[in-house]
Parts: sequence; structure tokens; C-alpha cells
Amino acid sequence: MLDVNHSDESELNKSEETSSVPRDLTQMDMKSLWHPMTQHKKYERNPPKRMDKAQGCYVVDAEGKEYLDGVSGLWCVNVGYGRKELADAAHEQLVELSYFPLVMSHSPAIKLAAKLLELLQFEGKVHFSNSGSEANETAFKMARQYHSQMGGTRRYKIISRYRAYHGNTMGALSATAQAERRAKYDPLVPGFMHVHPPYCYRCPFGKEYGSCNIECATNVENVVIHEGAESVAAIIVEPVISGGGVIVPPDEYLPILREICDRYDILLIFDEVVSGFGRLGKMFGHEHWGVKPDIITLAKGITSGYLPLSATITQQYIFDAFLDETDPTSHFRHINTYGGNPASTALSLKNIEIIETEQLTNQAAKMGAYLRTELSTIENHPYVGEIRGKGLLIGIELVADKETKEPLAGEKVGLVVSRCLELGTIIGRNTSTIPGLSNVLIIAPPLILTKADADLIVDNLKQALEEISTNVTRMIS
Ligand code: PLP
Repeated sequence: MLDVNHSDESELNKSEETSSVPRDLTQMDMKSLWHPMTQHKKYERNPPKRMDKAQGCYVVDAEGKEYLDGVSGLWCVNVGYGRKELADAAHEQLVELSYFPLVMSHSPAIKLAAKLLELLQFEGKVHFSNSGSEANETAFKMARQYHSQMGGTRRYKIISRYRAYHGNTMGALSATAQAERRAKYDPLVPGFMHVHPPYCYRCPFGKEYGSCNIECATNVENVVIHEGAESVAAIIVEPVISGGGVIVPPDEYLPILREICDRYDILLIFDEVVSGFGRLGKMFGHEHWGVKPDIITLAKGITSGYLPLSATITQQYIFDAFLDETDPTSHFRHINTYGGNPASTALSLKNIEIIETEQLTNQAAKMGAYLRTELSTIENHPYVGEIRGKGLLIGIELVADKETKEPLAGEKVGLVVSRCLELGTIIGRNTSTIPGLSNVLIIAPPLILTKADADLIVDNLKQALEEISTNVTRMIS
């Protein structure tokens, strides 16, 4: 998860007196809306920015100011804003069949399920829900029940990585290993364990890539053995950790995890809520490493954020374990009212058609490479510790000291984000992750990004970094 517009500094926000935004809507907002991830005491001083319109990569606020959305909303608007054909697809479907639950069936859900399996080259089954969190909850329940159906010992433990975000519901939050995000919600769900991420910039094992024996991956086997392999149901990973700070694994990492899972009969779940649908320059992130999961979860780019939808997709052998008619508890006893609703699934089909016909996965790869080249011009900036990513998911880790890698303080990171916003570019940052490590800027624009858009992001970021570091230096001296 990321925070795109929060800063501790008030100076960069317009005061209500100078704002042309109608006071009544702003006041209604303050009076009635509880915004996510927000300290509302700050909002009393700086009312939230209201967006009124959007087209392509750009959003326009209530005062008519345009911003390049460098994070695609919450990294979900993959095909860009304002696509009439998506609105039409939903409209036509709502008129035809507005709603029906998937305890029975309807054609857009059937067609989308078939399309997803074709894209994934899976022989398997698709289960729909509404959000990434729910898709992961569904995957955990499927994994636990799968092992139960298969007999043997009761496998219930789910392993995930520190820094990873897997959602806001209690199970998904239990898999989320970000101390700041979990604080005050304990006790969470039992049976969730965490291992270190493949974070070469700050290797948790104190090693260097090349002589490390990929300990971040091989150590997972030790954890499995110490936990008792026969108690472990699944390992869940994003191919690239996104909200936890854009952490790209070394090439050996995912193949090693696959081997460990196969060796101990553990299911491998890929959370591709962010990395699905072209974000990393391939239709699905895992294609970069040629490793197949047992279960994959998708959301966000599945509808480019136009309507809520998510999917939990299993290989056929998992589904087959739920077919024991002699056992009244063998089927998957899990339902949600809206999952796979006709409008969302019809819209998703059109969204995928756009991604394919406009070759947006190639565009993401091409523009990602272009952005990385242009961003290399800020590599020498004293705040820039590391620039990393894949396709159009790029993280810039900011540091106070390049040598010691001391993380840049969160307030200063917030100032960079706020200054970019003032200059007209929305960039994100990781927030509420690991104490002291909310220091990664995040760029994940719509996949339709042009070179001119990319140049604007880099120019604004460069200017923001220059100004903030100079001002801070001036303030200190
Ligand atoms: N998984 C990942 C990797 C995410 O980044 C997110 C949300 O940002 C989720 C799951 C949860 O998705 P949602 O917010 O749709 O519940």
C-alpha cells in the first residue's frame, strides 16, 4: 500500500481561504468522510485534495489543476482513465443482467474465467471476489482446506515475507509483515509466519549477491523444517514486493522457493494483485522467472480499478481435491455477495482486450526501460540510495547517507512527495511499513505512459529532490 499525497508539511497545501473549491463540499467531506490511512487532525488544517476528472494519465482537481498520476490511483489504473468503452461494457451488462450470484452462473463471469485461464496457461479454476484482500483470504482458506481434503497431518501455517503487504482483512493482515501497519490490531490470526525478504540493498543476512548462496530463499527451507513441514500449508509471495518498498528478487529466488514447496508438499501462492495485467512488462509478473504457482491472486489491473473485482485462481489438482461427494464438508464453503458480478466481469473482459490490442505489456516494458534510463540522471543525488524495479513499477530508496545507507527520515520523504504534487506529478511512497523504513518513493503510472509523460515525472522529481535537499541543508547550516 502506498500513500500518494500525505505530507507532514502544511506549506505545500493551499489554505481554504485561497481555494476556489466550494466550501460546502470540502466542509461536507470534513464532516462525513473517514479517509483511509489519514490522520484527520492534519486534514482539519489541510483539507483533502478533491479530484473531479481524469483522462489518460492525468487527473484534474476541484480547482482545475492537472496532475500526471504517476501511481495510477493505487497502482491499478493500468489502461488509463476515462475509457468510454469500459463504461459502455459495464452499462450494457447492467441493462442486460444487473446482478446474479455465482452460486448459479452468468456469461461474463464464464467468459472472463476462461480468458484468465488462457492468459495464465493454467488448467484450473477461477474464483471471484471483490478486492485483493479477499482474493488472498480465499487463497488461504483454499490452501488449508486443500491439505485437509488430501488427508495426512493438518497443515495450516502460511509463510510470508517481512515488508510484504497482502491486504487489510484480518487474515491478509496477518500475512502482511509490516509492523507499523499491524500495530494496535493484535491479536491477529494464528498460524502466520514470516521470513526475510530478498532485499539485496540491505541484505538481512549481511551477504553480497554473488557469494550469498541466495540465503533469503534457502533459509525458507530452514524455517519450514523448524516449523515442522507437515504443518505448513502455503507460502505466499508477490513476485516483486510492491507496497513494502519495490523489492525485486534475484533471478534464482522464485525457482528456489518453487523447489522448496515441491519438496515439502507446500502450496506456492503468488499475490499478483499489483504485478498482474502488464505492470511488470509481462501480462503476469511471474512470467519473468518462468515459475508457476499453485494459486495466483489478481485484482487492481483486472478492471484497471474501474469496478471492484478480484480473482483467486488454482491449478486443477487443487480444485480436484474438493470433489469428494461422500464428505458433506468437502466443497469450498465460502461465498461473497458481489464477487464476479456481471458488470465487473464484463468490464474486465473489455479491459483485457484493451491491454492486448494496444500491447500495453510491451509498452510497460518499453516505457519502464525508458524511465529507468532517464532516472539514472538522479542516481548521484545524495538522497538516492537505490533505484530498482521492473516494467512500470519503480522504487527509489532515499537515504540520508549513501555510505551508511541510513534511511532518509519519513518527513523528508513526505516533502519530496508533496513538492512533486505541487509541481503537478503524483508519486507514491511506502508508508506504515517497517519502523524507520518508510523511505521508498514509488512510480507506477498507467501503462499508456508516453515519453513526454515520463520526462515530466523525472523533471519534477529531480526538481523536488534538488529543492528539498538544498532547503534542508540550508536549514541545518
Ligand atoms: N496484495 C497486494 C500486493 C497489494 O498491494 C494490495 C493492495 O494494495 C492487496 C493485496 C490488497 O488489495 P485490496 O486493497 O484490493 O484489498
